[in-house]
Amino acid sequence: MLLAMQRNWVFHTLLQPGDEFIASNKLYGGSINQFNHSFKNFGWNVVWADTDDLSTFENAITDKTKAIFIESLANPGGIVTDIEAIAKIAKKAGIPLIVDNTMATPYLCRSIEHGANIIVESLTKFLGGHGNSMGGIIVDGGNFDWSASGKCPMLSEPRPEYSNMVLHETFGNFAFAIACRVLGLRDLGAAISPFNAFQTLTGIETLPLRMERHCQNAQKVAEWLSGHEAIESGSLCGA
Ligand SMILES: *Cc1c(COP(=O)(O)O)cnc(C)c1O
Repeated sequence: MLLAMQRNWVFHTLLQPGDEFIASNKLYGGSINQFNHSFKNFGWNVVWADTDDLSTFENAITDKTKAIFIESLANPGGIVTDIEAIAKIAKKAGIPLIVDNTMATPYLCRSIEHGANIIVESLTKFLGGHGNSMGGIIVDGGNFDWSASGKCPMLSEPRPEYSNMVLHETFGNFAFAIACRVLGLRDLGAAISPFNAFQTLTGIETLPLRMERHCQNAQKVAEWLSGHEAIESGSLCGA
């Protein structure tokens, strides 16, 4: 689904006032600010955890925790997050794992195959690729049972504004994508314009070619730097 304000929509669909979510402390600055400040106005409370010490994720889980949010490749820093290990923690707690895959792009990281349930990406950067449109995307992995833990009432309980329809019951494994539309789009707006959607989709067609070249360039820079006499050690993407 193409849209703007992808993070707001995801959380609007999952959280109610007083709820908590756990977020990695290695995140894009815009996300850190949004979680620390504007989300507080909705009564959504972020609890920070450290991707270098996964026990901090486990220890942060409470009865109020409704989701975990991480970046696959953190911006800034290029730190590689252990998606699989954190997905296991989320699964055990009965909550979805949301992965921001903006930096890695689907070319380098297919987070759903590592256990993620929801992906968000900025379309403004590598995906669109031409600096001509702003946007974001939410991908519903279709691999989360919204009714099992009782922690996602927006999807597992009747929605009064839709004749008491239970979204998970009616839409099955694409209930979250539908919920983002019928709750997020309806209430928050922020639909991408058709022209920007067109430009973004045209840009995405060349993603593999552009990413291949970005990787070749990064490799060259890393090799040059690690051979430089003034540099003690070099690494690519925190590896
Ligand atoms: C840039 C960026 C965003 C926000 O992108 P917008 O297009 O401004 O919504 C979110 N996450 C990461 C990791 C980013 O690098």
